[in-house]
Amino acid sequence: MLMPAAPFLIAMFVAFAADSLIPPVAVRPDEVAGCLMEALVGLAIAASVAMGLGLGLTAAVRRSGSPTASTRRGFMLASYAVQAMNLAVYTWLIHGLGWPEFVRSGLGLRNAFLVDESLILLPFLLAEVLGWWGLYPAARAFRLISTSHGAWYYLSRKARMTFGTVLPAILIFWAGNDLARRAFGENANLPAVQLGVTIALGLIVMGLSPAFIRLSWPTSPLPPGPIRDRLEGLARHYKFRYTNILVWDTDGSIFNAVVTGASPWFRYVLLSDALIDTLHEDEIAAVFGHEMGHMHHRHLAFFGAFFLGSLAVMALIGLVVDGFFSTLSIGIAGQTTTEVAKAVVMLGACGAYFWTVFGLLSRRFERQADVFGCRAVSCGQDDCPPHSVHPDGTTQGLSETAPICRVGIQTCIHALETVAVENGISIDSRSWRHGSIARRIDFLRHMGTRPEVEPHFQRGVYRLRVAIALMLVSATALAYLSGAFENLRNM
Ligand SMILES: [Zn+2]
Ligand SMILES: [Zn+2]
Repeated sequence: MLMPAAPFLIAMFVAFAADSLIPPVAVRPDEVAGCLMEALVGLAIAASVAMGLGLGLTAAVRRSGSPTASTRRGFMLASYAVQAMNLAVYTWLIHGLGWPEFVRSGLGLRNAFLVDESLILLPFLLAEVLGWWGLYPAARAFRLISTSHGAWYYLSRKARMTFGTVLPAILIFWAGNDLARRAFGENANLPAVQLGVTIALGLIVMGLSPAFIRLSWPTSPLPPGPIRDRLEGLARHYKFRYTNILVWDTDGSIFNAVVTGASPWFRYVLLSDALIDTLHEDEIAAVFGHEMGHMHHRHLAFFGAFFLGSLAVMALIGLVVDGFFSTLSIGIAGQTTTEVAKAVVMLGACGAYFWTVFGLLSRRFERQADVFGCRAVSCGQDDCPPHSVHPDGTTQGLSETAPICRVGIQTCIHALETVAVENGISIDSRSWRHGSIARRIDFLRHMGTRPEVEPHFQRGVYRLRVAIALMLVSATALAYLSGAFENLRNM
């Protein structure tokens, strides 16, 4: 779901996190015009490349009469290439050209409310819009957009999708921090004040996040009918509370389901239009069950606690890296080189930590949600098939102790296979957060052959949660006692 926003998050990191690690290049007033010119040339080159790719692909489709598998692949690769190029140009702008200093000292906008941060980000937003515009003729040729809609519709749809979920949250953080600096003056830098402001802003963003998701796509309530009745029945059965079930209007371009918000207030279940049009009613119920499973097992809340506790792990990593460099590099390298090397090692170590632990945790949670999805469409008969159904033609979902039936599992497997086909991904392709679809299916098949697999799996997930919780609590205590938190702030 957050996939469309990933390049945007990388750009944010390049501009604001890495910016504080790498010493900024100062911009003198007489360099301002030249700097602006160079930035515009950089953006123009990126836009021309995107346009060239777009026209080339459009011509290729015209030659072959209609889009083929290989030209489609070409379009996907071109989109990735434009994305990578935009990030490269933006990184050059920030660190090569010194764009943040251009805005802050060159234009004299340091600490102007929201204006400085927004202007620092602006070139990336421009590059993205120009890139989509360049590829627009090809998107039209590939019928990714219906002929009744023009360029403006395409660009605004891409912009909502890419920035709608993240940009409002970032604006709230910027505004909150700017206001805190005004309200508390010098005291705004005290760790207690910083922590308080961050937590308050985090809560505001969390509360509003369902609205942001609705910003990123047009939605409408799922109309009354058998599907809605069935999903509402399931939700009642599992005491799953939500604000509404919404159809996600994506012109059939997205095949996905999402549930927003860890709290039952402002919680929406979004089912994309393509998913509702393609899947059978039982499979939609299985997908809905999967999303309910994430909430039932409190996955979002655990992730929240995980990220909070991981601050302590990062502080401890910082302490170790710091200690290592202070024994190693005195007199060997210059101050700046040491700082940069330290930052790189620190980033690498934190990256490896999140890659391993968060990756493992989210793959387990995904599987647990799959199991819940099977249960939601299962009849609970040991000797199924025949699959016993209620007089209204549905199963009602099962308690957590009842066995999951074969037809229920088969329904889930088929839904997963359809997800792979509709999203154009091979079922063997690995996903760091979800695991490959083939492995998820293998696990479900395995569960169908032996009844003891499921309780064994659930105990394993429970033990993993306890182990991670204990690790995070000890890390927090250790970080507190060793003064690692102080150290992290000074890095
Ligand atoms: Zn999931
Ligand atoms: Zn059954």
